[in-house]
Amino acid sequence: MLRSREAMRIYLDHNATTPPAPEVVEAVGRAMGGIFGNPSSVHAFGQEARAALEQARAEVAGLIGAAASEIVLTGGGTEADNFALRGVASALEGTDRREIITTAIEHEAVLNTGRALSRRGWTLTLLPVDASGIVAPEALEAAISERTALVSVMHANNEIGTVQPVEPLARIARAHGAVMHTDAVQSVGKIPVDVHALGVDLLSLSGHKFYGPKGTGALWIRRGTRLGPVLTGGRQERNRRAGTENLPGVVGLGVASALARGKQPAEADRLRELRDRLERGILDRVPGAAVNGAPEPRVPNTTNISFDRIEAESLLIALDLEGIAVSTGSACSSGTLEPSHVLKAMGLGPSRAQSSLRFSLGAVNTHEDVDRVLEVLPGAVEKLRRLTRSAVVV
Ligand code: PLP
Repeated sequence: MLRSREAMRIYLDHNATTPPAPEVVEAVGRAMGGIFGNPSSVHAFGQEARAALEQARAEVAGLIGAAASEIVLTGGGTEADNFALRGVASALEGTDRREIITTAIEHEAVLNTGRALSRRGWTLTLLPVDASGIVAPEALEAAISERTALVSVMHANNEIGTVQPVEPLARIARAHGAVMHTDAVQSVGKIPVDVHALGVDLLSLSGHKFYGPKGTGALWIRRGTRLGPVLTGGRQERNRRAGTENLPGVVGLGVASALARGKQPAEADRLRELRDRLERGILDRVPGAAVNGAPEPRVPNTTNISFDRIEAESLLIALDLEGIAVSTGSACSSGTLEPSHVLKAMGLGPSRAQSSLRFSLGAVNTHEDVDRVLEVLPGAVEKLRRLTRSAVVV
């Protein structure tokens, strides 16, 4: 059984990572111990490994409505995003298409890769969002041109959970001859994801966000999409990603994909109910609490809430001392706490951005977990506010 309550510890940080499903742990162990052949070897050991690899690839493809031959297995979501951006850049290097359009709320895997390419002469355009945290197709329509090589817009945002209108965005991108990528790392396993319904050319996913092993992932590449390799070397993955495959990890990714496919619709309903109860409970019990971003469309497991006059980092620690694990959307860079770039892009001022916590639920959570958070959180907020008031008085 997956457990969140190790000695009353409650895990509400599933957007950071998920505990691997027991079936995944078992399959990875079995592959590690029993299938050691190199999938590229011709002999029976190699063939056995190849069969396991291809079975896992088919499961990943099945999860997103894709053909197995279009799946390139990667070492996680970051690598898949790098592959998408750098792969398109290297394929289109010598053409007039020299612009990448993405959004101000992407994960760093996309944003920093775009920035790295901009230092090599690519134009990087960031589409804005409003307070809803959703990108308007009109913004892409206004920005795109015949110079645009790639449009990359995430499917679900990791900090606030909003789901982007990828399908209309993809239609605009493709009408202008640009390649369309979506980082679906936070949507796969949480809501239905179908590459053809989305109309994209490239889609990234990551195993550890849906109960698979860390360091596993995939890039789906629509047949015919021009993409240069990022890792060069051997001929693995149809010459698209060199290096001997992480077979135990890939086997685990396959099992996680099959599980997600079977469980996703019912689990989404269960998590939405828990998340909504948690969210309502917090808003009802804590004065000065407000949800960040549009309530819908949103992945069912995520809520991001700001707490007036609270430093999120202090509240996170107070909750952690009570055994409750949540996260701030903010990244800690060079010792200074930067407000979240996502909340900033939504127009939230620094004090509100720095008072925000993300609660992301998952398979391990129960109604009792929500009850416990609702029992602990209002008192923790009140205590911190009292401390801040007395610090100001002193
Ligand atoms: N993209 C998004 C939206 C994410 O949330 C994450 C991880 O947090 C990544 C990419 C990176 O994935 P990985 O941790 O597998 O490298």
